[in-house]
Amino acid sequence: PPVVLRVDGLSVSFTGGPDDIPAVRDVGLDIRRGEVVALLGESGSGKSVTARAIMGLVDEHTRVSADTLRLGDTDLLAITPEQRRRLRGERMSLVLQDALSALNPVLSIGDQIGELFRVHRGATRKQAKASAVELLGLVGIPAPQQRVDDYPHQFSGGMRQRILIAMAIALEPELLIADEPTTALDVTVQAQILDLLDRLRSELGMGILLITHDLGVVTEVADRLAVMYAGRVVERGDADTVLARPAHPYTEALLRSVPQASLRGGRLLTIPGSPPSPGQVPTGCSFHTRCLFAVDVCRTTRPPLADVAPGRAAACHRSDELLTGALS
Ligand code: SF4
Ligand code: MG
Repeated sequence: PPVVLRVDGLSVSFTGGPDDIPAVRDVGLDIRRGEVVALLGESGSGKSVTARAIMGLVDEHTRVSADTLRLGDTDLLAITPEQRRRLRGERMSLVLQDALSALNPVLSIGDQIGELFRVHRGATRKQAKASAVELLGLVGIPAPQQRVDDYPHQFSGGMRQRILIAMAIALEPELLIADEPTTALDVTVQAQILDLLDRLRSELGMGILLITHDLGVVTEVADRLAVMYAGRVVERGDADTVLARPAHPYTEALLRSVPQASLRGGRLLTIPGSPPSPGQVPTGCSFHTRCLFAVDVCRTTRPPLADVAPGRAAACHRSDELLTGALS
């Protein structure tokens, strides 16, 4: 399938303070049509910053650079901010976790969704409402005809998340970026939202970048996986393969931190120590302060992200040993 998003050498710095703070360094990833790629890592690892940089949603105190940033055939580095703005919603959309604050409390959801069709598609009020009903049905809102005039507060959290997803996909973008879309929801509703994303990628063929700190979410829907630590991708590859046998100790630690019985909904917050804040990243391998396998070279020399198998890469001096089982 064709590549929907190609990112190479993406770096993001915060420039508002006395010193520039690097938040994301040299990130690369591809997403193809119909594919879900998960970006996994603890809070503060640079996942959301990466998403906002791809979307072009950064403020004036943020500097973004990249070697490649393409949406389909469009070079996002070569177009104007105005052209970039017009792509949002039309060709790329972002869904955040907090559905209540993302919806307008004083407009019915039919009006909110309908507005997209009126503004972008020149639809009449009547056509827009019909399209809104259809879309609400597509994302699994029961009896959409009866609910279309309701207001956000009349829906449950899970239903509001479906409504946000409906708005994000209304104009059939090629790329959907979902940043912790299920974090605020209970486990049953989480599973339903993930099923919905899974259905959308196969039925509408969109590429999905799914940002999460939840390993259960990854095992549920991701085809491929990129693991971030301290602003960099430290491991990437086919999701099942990576999770079956990680090539990076951080990925391994994430897996070990989740009891297998509760993999779904399991949180990643139990690795001893905490991730470094941007601007205070250790020298050498940024994970060496928490790594069980650290040796001298790890403290002085940063391991590059290197191929460890076809379609797989990891940034660790000891990946080969980890993969052959010599370390466990
Ligand atoms: Fe651990 Fe060294 Fe590998 Fe870093 S390079 S993850 S410290 S073994
Ligand atoms: Mg985040």
